[in-house]
Amino acid sequence: MKYRYDVMQHFTSFTLLVILLTASTQANSDSLFNADQRIDIEYISPLDSTKRKQLQLWLQDVSDALLTVYGAWPKDRFNITVKHGAGSGSPVPWGQVNRGNPDNVLLVINPGSAMQEIIADWTVYHEVSHLLIPYSGAGDGWLSEGLATYYQNIIQARAGVLSESELWNKLASGFERGRTEKQWSQKDLTEISDNMGKYRSFMRVHWSGVHYWLTADTTLRQQSNNQVSLDHLLEQLKTCCQHKSMSAIAIVEQLDQLAGTNLFKPLFLEYRASHAMPDYQPILSRLGVIFQPQANKSDVLLTTSAPAAEIRTSIYKGDGR
Ligand SMILES: [Zn+2]
Repeated sequence: MKYRYDVMQHFTSFTLLVILLTASTQANSDSLFNADQRIDIEYISPLDSTKRKQLQLWLQDVSDALLTVYGAWPKDRFNITVKHGAGSGSPVPWGQVNRGNPDNVLLVINPGSAMQEIIADWTVYHEVSHLLIPYSGAGDGWLSEGLATYYQNIIQARAGVLSESELWNKLASGFERGRTEKQWSQKDLTEISDNMGKYRSFMRVHWSGVHYWLTADTTLRQQSNNQVSLDHLLEQLKTCCQHKSMSAIAIVEQLDQLAGTNLFKPLFLEYRASHAMPDYQPILSRLGVIFQPQANKSDVLLTTSAPAAEIRTSIYKGDGR
């Protein structure tokens, strides 16, 4: 915001017009490719060529991180729209996925932020992770928010942005924030999730969802001797359903069908009826993550002796490493 006003104050309107015309005659789009897959990027706000190149490299890194789930993007075609806006002052004050044909990821970036601040922001990892399920947006949004929040951390870790300890610290700290949001404990998760504007229990909604996916992923891996993972199932979900628009319950039914399990739907029904963040210590203990919320926030201790310690490392590394 500050940058734009400075420009307007220091140039005559004629000069500004020339700049705008020049910008509009330059290409304002880029494309990224992975085999026969394609992402089209459109820059709505005028950018100089250096900044545009930096943004392209940033989005290349993010889309590479998304490949760490199963080696392909979850949609064969999707778009990313980048535009300027200041909002809260954060480097990426807003992001959202607009479902369509193709889906579009809108990213609002703060023109006053340094490139390294934009690169360090988690918003874009969250938004692209939403694409991993073809969610219609109709009801039980906690399932979709949980998946995006789970994978935003996993793909950052697999891309080397977060260490293994940092990954588990992010998840454990998030669970704790969800646990302390208790003001609507008389309402079930579906109710608060479907009325976010009214109840504003963002932490409970997001982190109950992460708890769901971590529990399902860990259980699936334990039942299959770590041969089948949520990563695998999401790849199969892409194959069958990337062009569909599915409700939350249809997605969990599909995952059970793909896995040959009776896991995702019963767990979904249990979580949607919950009145508080489920206790997170049992799942963290299973995975060998020791976390004491009273202690220094940066402290998680990872042990190799826990029953699912190898699964914890697999979640962190993914299959490709
Ligand atoms: Zn989200």
